[in-house]
Amino acid sequence: MILKEIEMQGFKSFPEKTTLKFGSGITAVVGPNGSGKSNISDAVRWVLGEQSSKSLRGSKMEDVIFDGTKVRKAHGYASVTLKLDNTDRSIESVDEDEIAVTRRFYRSGESEYKINGKTVRLRDINELFMDTGLGRDGYSIIGQGRIAEIVSSKSSDRRDIFEEAAGISRYRSRKEESERKLARTEENLLRINDKIDELELQVEPLRRQSETAKKYLILRDELRVREISVWMASLDRLRSQAEAVNNDYENAKRELDEAHRSLEALYASSGNISERMHEKDMEAEKARERLSATEGRAADCDARAAELRANIKSSSESVERMKADISEAETRVREIGNQIGENKARIAELTKALSELSE
Ligand code: ATP
Repeated sequence: MILKEIEMQGFKSFPEKTTLKFGSGITAVVGPNGSGKSNISDAVRWVLGEQSSKSLRGSKMEDVIFDGTKVRKAHGYASVTLKLDNTDRSIESVDEDEIAVTRRFYRSGESEYKINGKTVRLRDINELFMDTGLGRDGYSIIGQGRIAEIVSSKSSDRRDIFEEAAGISRYRSRKEESERKLARTEENLLRINDKIDELELQVEPLRRQSETAKKYLILRDELRVREISVWMASLDRLRSQAEAVNNDYENAKRELDEAHRSLEALYASSGNISERMHEKDMEAEKARERLSATEGRAADCDARAAELRANIKSSSESVERMKADISEAETRVREIGNQIGENKARIAELTKALSELSE
């Protein structure tokens, strides 16, 4: 398997996007102490899924993110992509000529893993490199002092390294998984047996309960039958009540229809009545006008009558006065008549005297 390139951005001392291409043969990275050489192998370890910040020479995972300098501000995330040549299909599960594994970590604590741009779980990355010697616990990265550690470590730890190299780690891990499952199943079996013992103790009380339940079911069925007959009787009663109510309803509906019709007729006649009322109002108005004119004339007549009565009164007084004058005049006439009679008698006396004298 050939490591083609590694690309780092925001990882430890690599704030800029930095790509290292590895050609065929041996590639050596040379630099003074503290210039960042080990940060490259840290990046390889990290992208392959390393979870221990101590192994990455930090105290917490956030320490892998570029922390800033006096002249440059800190990064928000660290991202590393590792590209491997897979033309020989050394990793069979990926049918591509190149495998790009990416890990990204944000200050918020969020992580992202990708294989050839597709988001995956950390477990998928661990499985991808199992038995290849790469991977988190692989022997492909030997740090400073690590060889001494391997040589002096326990035989079981050394065995892990040899198993990884022999390509049986995958089976070992599956075996361990199966053993864990088996242990869990055995535990479950024990719990089930305990449960069975417990249940057996409950059998007798349960049998009694079951008899009671059976009796209950028989009584419940009987109750149901009785309830049904009661319901049927009430149903008949309700049905006849419903019929009566329905008849009432029909009658009421008919009455209502009739009332509606009468109302319609009343509405129609009320239209005529309103018209006639309007006409009558107009006539009444005219009559009022005529009345007021007549009253005016009556007032005039009253005034005229009063005037006439005053005239009559004064005429009566004149008549009375005239009657008095006439009676006075008549008295005078009689007196004058009497005087005339007297005068005539005198004249006759005188005439007689005259004639006697003449004679
Ligand atoms: P040595 O020869 O001692 O192994 P080295 O060349 O391998 O040194 P490293 O130890 O990889 O160098 O690099 C350490 C450098 O990386 C230090 O200068 C340190 O300041 C820098 N560094 C580590 N973590 C960060 C970070 N999170 N942000 C910025 N710089 C960092």
